[in-house]
Amino acid sequence: MSDTMDEPPDDGSSDRTAEPFTYNGGRVDPGESANIRYGISETYLGDPVRIPVTVVNGEQPGPTVFLSAAAHGDELNGIEVVREVAHDWDHSELHGTLVCLPVMNVPGFLAQERYLPIYDRDLNRSFPGREGSTSARRMAHRIFTNFIEPCDLGLDFHTSTRGRTNMLHVRANMDDPTVARIAKAFSSNVIIAGEGPSGTLRYEATQAGVPTITIEMGEAHRFQRRLIDRALTGVASVLAEFGCHPDSSVHWPGWRTVIDDDHEKTWIRADAGGIVDMKHGRGEYVREGETICAITNPFKEEDDIVTVEAPFTGLVVGVLENPVVYPGNPLCHLVGLSPDTRTALERERTAERSRSELRSARSAESSDAE
Ligand SMILES: [Zn+2]
Repeated sequence: MSDTMDEPPDDGSSDRTAEPFTYNGGRVDPGESANIRYGISETYLGDPVRIPVTVVNGEQPGPTVFLSAAAHGDELNGIEVVREVAHDWDHSELHGTLVCLPVMNVPGFLAQERYLPIYDRDLNRSFPGREGSTSARRMAHRIFTNFIEPCDLGLDFHTSTRGRTNMLHVRANMDDPTVARIAKAFSSNVIIAGEGPSGTLRYEATQAGVPTITIEMGEAHRFQRRLIDRALTGVASVLAEFGCHPDSSVHWPGWRTVIDDDHEKTWIRADAGGIVDMKHGRGEYVREGETICAITNPFKEEDDIVTVEAPFTGLVVGVLENPVVYPGNPLCHLVGLSPDTRTALERERTAERSRSELRSARSAESSDAE
């Protein structure tokens, strides 16, 4: 595994002076930040549909980085990540500019739905968008031309689709050197390699010269604090790698696996309808032949129980949360691991177990004492 950063951080300061960030209708000068409500469409009432954007322009020159969330309106974890970066972090030493887009799909967010409620369009298949096209493409166009194209790199936050959950992982086109550099700097354990479908923000931004990764984390309709904290570590690490925070260092996640086309990976689907008794959670390690779940009928009749076994040893990256399936529905996203990664992972899990045993022993001692 060659997981170390081999390029020196590009702090962007050698031949640049800090520049204003401009968009259609405004500018944010170095040393300033602005909260903007930017019109991207109009409602049935003729009122503006405006997305919240915070632009933080550092006093020092450096790259322009976008952080975006809620392209799918019910995927909330990323909203909190982007808000905390924009409003809770100290930006006095920032080199470069942050363009923070916590809620891109405002109509979907208001309805707490994945898609734009207008004909159920997927905003994340509508980029880069087009003037004079469908409502979804017009919205995508306004976002893309004003706030994505002017950037040097980007992070787009997602969660699993409703009813399922994901362990935190990065999706990135690892054939693009800058995308790979962002993906590794984000310091997730798992990177799924691939360029992504056309129309997605990360694919189209990367095509337009703004290398971008997607971060998948947890489930829809929730703030999941541990995942949010891990994502914030990832953001800080990317900003360190690209010189936005030149005094900070890049974080190493302990182990890392890049799941490319040579790896075994599969969405295991139900072959029977029923109620699912899931034996494994997201991020768990399962061995070949181990039972992943059992699908049962309402009477729990032994003869009708269908057990689903792991076809290979791997990691549960995504898993069903809503425990009911029709035949063909996804149960779990399993990815195979190299022997090196398995060793590193087993070492980590053993250390975690002994830490938690130590903790429970300590709390047993202290409760004995009281
Ligand atoms: Zn999404």
